Amino acid sequence: MSTHNAATPAHQIPVTELKGVGPRLAERLEKLHIHTLQDLLFHLPYRYQDRTRIHPIGSLRPGSEVVIEGEVQLSEIKFGRRRMLLTRISDGTGSLTLRFFHFNNAQKEGLSPGTRLRCFGEVRSGGATLEMVHPEYRRIIAEMSEVEEHLTPIYPTTEGLQMPGLRKLIDQALDRYSAGEVGLPDLIPPALLPAGMRGLRESLLTLHRPPPDIALSQFVDGEHPAQQRLAFEELLAHQLSLRLLRQQMRRYPAQPLAPAGELSAQLTASLPFTLTAAQSRVLAEIRHDLQQPTPMQRLVQGDVGCGKTIVAALAALQSVESGLQAAMMAPTELLAEQHYRSLSAWLAPLGVEVAWLTGKLKAKERREMLAAIEEGTAMVAVGTHALFQEEVVFKRLGLVVVDEQHRFGVHQRLALREKGVQQDGTHPHQLIMTATPIPRTLAMTAYADLDLSIIDELPPGRTPVETVAITDERREEVIARVATACAEGRQAYWVCTLIEESEKLQCQAAEDSLEQLCALLPHLRIALVHGRMKPQEKAAAMDAFKRAELDLLVATTVIEVGVDVPNASLMIIENAERLGLAQLHQLRGRVGRGSTKSSCVLMYHPPLSQQARERLGVMRESNDGFVIARKDLELRGPGEVLGTRQTGMLQLRIADLQRDQPLMQDVTTAAQLLLQAYPRQVEPLLQRWLGEKRQYANV
Ligand code: ADP
Ligand code: MG
Repeated sequence: MSTHNAATPAHQIPVTELKGVGPRLAERLEKLHIHTLQDLLFHLPYRYQDRTRIHPIGSLRPGSEVVIEGEVQLSEIKFGRRRMLLTRISDGTGSLTLRFFHFNNAQKEGLSPGTRLRCFGEVRSGGATLEMVHPEYRRIIAEMSEVEEHLTPIYPTTEGLQMPGLRKLIDQALDRYSAGEVGLPDLIPPALLPAGMRGLRESLLTLHRPPPDIALSQFVDGEHPAQQRLAFEELLAHQLSLRLLRQQMRRYPAQPLAPAGELSAQLTASLPFTLTAAQSRVLAEIRHDLQQPTPMQRLVQGDVGCGKTIVAALAALQSVESGLQAAMMAPTELLAEQHYRSLSAWLAPLGVEVAWLTGKLKAKERREMLAAIEEGTAMVAVGTHALFQEEVVFKRLGLVVVDEQHRFGVHQRLALREKGVQQDGTHPHQLIMTATPIPRTLAMTAYADLDLSIIDELPPGRTPVETVAITDERREEVIARVATACAEGRQAYWVCTLIEESEKLQCQAAEDSLEQLCALLPHLRIALVHGRMKPQEKAAAMDAFKRAELDLLVATTVIEVGVDVPNASLMIIENAERLGLAQLHQLRGRVGRGSTKSSCVLMYHPPLSQQARERLGVMRESNDGFVIARKDLELRGPGEVLGTRQTGMLQLRIADLQRDQPLMQDVTTAAQLLLQAYPRQVEPLLQRWLGEKRQYANV
C-alpha cells in the first residue's frame, strides 16, 4: 500500500489501495460502481439494524429486528412437516421461541436449559409466543462485550461480496476520511443549502454511523436531514448537467423564422373550431421561440385529446412560410399515418405538399417521397423513425416536431435534429409533445434542458367518460351492452390487449374476439384492425368506421393513439388488468370526443393483483390525465413513467424523484446561483455524481 500526503482527494484514491482489496474484489466492487474511495464513501446504507440495546422480551412487537437476552427454559425437537428445533427462552418479562430448521447435535446440546443467550433477529408472531426464525445468537459468558455503539448499516452488496467485508472496507475509508487523510470537499456553499441542512461531512458520517438515538423511521422514508443533504446534492448535479446541455444548445445558431403570416391565418380561419385559450397561449409561446436566432427546445404537455396536433401543424406552417421544411415524427405507423392525414387535410388546400415516410412504404413510393423531401417540393414530412434514416436528406429543415416523445429515446430525437444541421452550423428548432402529463416539479428535473408549455384545457363539449370495471365472467352482459349502444346509432371499440408482449398473439386474440362477436352480433357491421394488417387494409377499416359504415371496431392496442371518431361512445377493453394506467388513459381517450355520453368498460380476468385493483380503481374515479399520471407515478415510480429518456439521463443513486419533490424548487435555485457565483464547483459536482455518464450531456 502506498502512502498519500495529507488529504489526497478521495476520487483519486483507487479502492485497490485499501487493505485486502485485490483484483478480484476490485472487480466485484466495480459491479457496485465503486472504483475510488469517494465512491465507497457515497455508497450508503439502505437500512439499519439496531444492535445498540437489549430489548425486554415482554415489550417486543412482531416485525421489529432486535437484540434480546434470556435464559433457555426448554429445547425440543418437533416433527411436523419438517423436523425442527424449538428453544424457549425467557428474561423475566416474557418468553420467546427460537425456531431452527437446520441444526446439528452440537447446536442442540449448546441450547440446553439454563444457558444464557444473546440473540438478534426479526420478531414474528408464532403460536403461543412470539418467535425468531434462525436468529443470530451467542452464549453469554462473563466478560461479554457491550452491545454495538452505532446502528449497524446494511449496504447494497453484490454476488461474492459479503456484508461484513464491504462494511470493513467502508470503515477503512471512513476512518481515513475522519482522520483527515482523505479529502472530500463540500462542493455546495452553505448559503445555497435549504435552511437546516447540514454539511457534507456531518451528513456522510451520520449516514454511515448513525448514533443510537436517531429516529429510524425518518431513515426508512428517506427524510432524515443527512439523507436529504445528499439527495439535494445529487439532484443539483443532474440539474446542472441538464442546464449545461441547454446552454450548449443555446450557443448554436438557428434560423429565426418570420412571424406567422397569411397561410397561418388562412389555416386558422378554415378550421371547424376555434383554438382553446390554452392552445392559443402555447402557440404564442412557440411562435415567439421560433423567431429567435437560437433553436427552440420546447416541450408541450397536454392530456389526450387536448389538441396538440393542430398546434404542431401551425408551428410547421410558420416554418414553411419562412421557406424552411418541417418534419414531424410519431412513434407508430398508425399514428404517423393519422398525422399525415390530418396535416394533409389542413395544409394541402394552402398549396403545401406533405410527404410521409414509414418503414412499410413500397420502394417506388418511398423513392418519390425521398425525392420530394430532398428537392423541397414537400415542405412538410411526417413519419416514424424512418425519418432519420441515412437516405433521408432534407433540403432545408427548419423545425423538428417529435410527438409522444416518451416513446422515443433521447438518441432518436437528437438524430432527427442532426438531420437539420446546416453547413453554416444552424440547428433546427425543436418541438416535443407528450400526453404523459407529469407533475411540474418532476418535469423540472427530467426535462430541465427544455422549456415547458402546458395545454391544460380540453376543447369544449368533451364529456367525462363513465368507467366501470367488470369481470370477464360477465362477458355476455358486456356484449349485450354493445348491441344496445349500436342499436341506438352509436359506435363502439372492442380492444384486445397485449398477451405476453407478443404482437402475433395479440392479433390472434383480436381475430378470435372478432369471430365470436360476429357470431353473437350478426346484425352489426364489424371490422378488425391490428398491427399485422397491410396499411391499406387498416386504413380502409378505419375510414369505414369514421364514415359510420361500421358499428363496431375490434382492435388491438394499435388504436391507442391517433384515432378520432366523435360518434364512437363506447369502449370495451378486454383484460384491462394487463395494461398500465397511462395506456388505459390513452385508450379511453378515443371515446368521449363527441356530445353523447360515453362509457368505457374495463373487463378483467379475476383474481386481480393489488396493483391492478388500484389501477382499475383510479380509472373508475378519474378522467383527469394529471391525476392519473400522479397515481401512475406512485404505483410505478418515475423511471417507468418517464420512459426511455430516463435510462442514461437520470439514474439516481440516492435521491428519489418522487420522494424528493419538495427539494426541487431549492435545487433549481441553487443550480442557478452556483452557475453564476461558483462556476468552479460545477465541474467537480458533475464528476462526483455523473462520472462517466457525463459525456451524455455533450450530445
Ligand atoms: P392530442 O392532444 O391527444 O394529440 P389531437 O390533436 O389528436 O389531440 O386532437 C383531438 C381532436 O380534437 C382532433 O379531432 C382535433 O381536430 C380536435 N380539436 C383540436 N383542437 C380543437 C379545438 N380547439 N376545438 C375543438 N376540437 C379540437
Ligand atoms: Mg396526439
